[in-house]
Amino acid sequence: MWRIGWRDEAWSALDQEFDLIVIGGGITGAGIFAEACRKGFKTLLVEAKDFASGTSSRSSKLVHGGFRYLRNGQIKITYDSVRERERLLREERGLIHELGFLIARYQGDRLPMWALGLGLTLYDLIAFRWGHKYYQPERMLDLCPQLNPQDLEGGYRYFDALTDDARLVLKMIKTGVEFGGYALNYCPVQHILQMRHGQFVGIIIKDISPDGLERTCEVQSTAIINATGVWAEEVFSLALGEMIRKPKLRKLQGSHLVFSQEKLPLTRAVSIWHPEDKRPVFAFPWEGVTLVGTTDVDTNSRIRTDPQITGAEFEYLLDFIQYAFPGLNLSGKDVQSTFSGYRAVLDTGKSDPSKESREHILKYDAGLLTVAGGKLTTFRLMANQALRLLGKKMASFSPSNQIQEAGISPSIRLFARSEIDTRIGIRLIGRLGMDVQYMVDEIPNEEFRLIENSRTTFAELRWGAKAEGTMHLDDLLMRRVRLGITIPGGGLAIIQQIKEIVTEELHWDETRWQEELINYKQLLGNRYSVRF
Ligand code: FAD
Repeated sequence: MWRIGWRDEAWSALDQEFDLIVIGGGITGAGIFAEACRKGFKTLLVEAKDFASGTSSRSSKLVHGGFRYLRNGQIKITYDSVRERERLLREERGLIHELGFLIARYQGDRLPMWALGLGLTLYDLIAFRWGHKYYQPERMLDLCPQLNPQDLEGGYRYFDALTDDARLVLKMIKTGVEFGGYALNYCPVQHILQMRHGQFVGIIIKDISPDGLERTCEVQSTAIINATGVWAEEVFSLALGEMIRKPKLRKLQGSHLVFSQEKLPLTRAVSIWHPEDKRPVFAFPWEGVTLVGTTDVDTNSRIRTDPQITGAEFEYLLDFIQYAFPGLNLSGKDVQSTFSGYRAVLDTGKSDPSKESREHILKYDAGLLTVAGGKLTTFRLMANQALRLLGKKMASFSPSNQIQEAGISPSIRLFARSEIDTRIGIRLIGRLGMDVQYMVDEIPNEEFRLIENSRTTFAELRWGAKAEGTMHLDDLLMRRVRLGITIPGGGLAIIQQIKEIVTEELHWDETRWQEELINYKQLLGNRYSVRF
C-alpha cells in the first residue's frame, strides 16, 4: 500500500477539497479516519511524527473494560469498553486476543474479597459471558507459582484482552486508505485556517520527512478534527490562539518495565495492589516478553514525543515486582527495557490522578472538533460519536463518496501456502489485514520465520520497510515491528540482518543508514533503556 512513491502520490492529491481533515495519527485519529472513509467521507489524516508515535504505542496494550474503573464508579466507560472488547475480539482475530487475568488479594488490601467477586460478576454480566472464578490461595499458587505466598488470601480469575497498540493504529489507517482516504506521517499541522466569519476551513502542513524537502501545503476541508491527545491544547492554539476556550486537560505519565520471559515467566496476567499506595499494577505476557505497569503520575515537564521513565517510577515498579514475585529475586539489572507515555484526562482536580475519569471529551468550535482523552479500547465509539456530532453541527458535513464494501478476507490464499505455520498465518492476517495477500507473493518463504526469541517474523520486518510508510529506522523497529522493546538490546545484535533488509527495501545508501543507526541507538539509550 505505502510503497516507494506513495508520499508524492498522496501529496499531489492535496489540492482537492476534503470533507474531513483528521489531525493526529494515534488511535483516536486513526479510528476516526477509518470510520469516516468507510462512510464515504473524503478524508485526509496528517500526523506530525510517525503514525502511533504518541501515546498509542506506549499503552498497556489491554483491550479491557477497566475493572478498576467500576470501583471508581465509572460504570459508563466500563460498560462501553467491555462491549467494545467483545466486538474487537470477534472482528480482529490475530491482532487482539483473550488473556486470562489473576487478581490476587493479600491481607490488608482495601477491597474485601466479596466486593471483588461482586465487581467481577457485574463485569461478566455486562459482557454477557461468565468468565470469573474464585480460587483459594493454594490454587492461586498452582496457577501462578511465582506469586508471593505470604499473606495471600486467595483471588479471582477473569478474562480481558490484549493487542499490539501500534499495529492496531496502523491497521485502522490502512483501512481508511483502502477506502480511498489519504494519510501522511511526518506532516505537522502548522496553522489552522479560519475564514473571516470564524469558520475553520483548512490547515497548513509541512512535510518534514527526510525526502519531503520541507515543502508546505494548504489543504481545504469542510470539517477538521483535532485528535492530538496530549497535544490537543497546543493544536488549539494553532487555531488562532486564545479566541476559543481550550479544554482543560490533565497530563499524566505512565511507564512500564519490560522483562524477558526467562526472568519473569508468566502465562497469564497477574494484578496485585501495590503495597505502597494500593493501586492495581499488572504483570502480563506480551509479544514474547513480560510487561509490568503502569504508573500514573502528573507531569509538568514539556510534553515530548519520546518520554522517559523517571527514577521514582522505576523504583515503584521494581518494588511491586519484588513484592509480588519475591522468589524470582529480580533487581533493576534484570529489566530489559522500559517505555513511557502520556495520557490526557479531563482535569477535575482529583488529588489521586488515577481517580480522574477515563471518559473522552468532545469540544466543537466552528467546524473544528477536538476529541481527547478516552481509551484505546473505545476508539470506534469515539469515532462514531465524533462523526455524528459533526453531522449535527454542520449541515454541510456530508460524504462525497459512496459507502464501499469491505474487501474479502485474504486468509484462504495465505493458508494455501503450506510452508507457513498456521499460528504465524493468523497473526499476520490480524496485523496486516488485506496486505497479507501481497506479502505472501512478494516475500521469500524462508523469511516467514521468527526473529530470535520474539514473536515477529523477518517477513514482517521486510514488509514494514517495503510497504508500511516507514521513514526512519525507529518507525520500523519501534512500531511496524516491536523489536525495539521485545528483544534484548533493541535488535542491535542482529543489526546486520536488519540493515540488509532495510537498505534493500528503502534504497538507503551507507551514509543514510549510518545516520539512522546513530539516531536509533541514541533513542534506545536515552528513552527506552534502564538508567537507574
Ligand atoms: P496519541 O496516540 O498521543 O496521538 C496523538 C497524535 O497527534 C500523536 O501521534 C502526535 O504526534 C500527533 N500530533 C501532535 N501535534 C500534531 C500536529 N501539530 N500535527 C499533526 N499531528 C500532531 N487504553 C486502553 O484502552 N488500554 C490500555 O491498556 C491503556 N493503557 C494505557 C497506559 C498508559 C501508560 C497510557 C498513558 C494510556 C493508556 N491507555 C490505555 C489510554 C490510551 O493509550 C490512550 O487513550 C490513546 O492511546 C490516546 O490516543 P490518541 O490518538 O488520542 O493520542
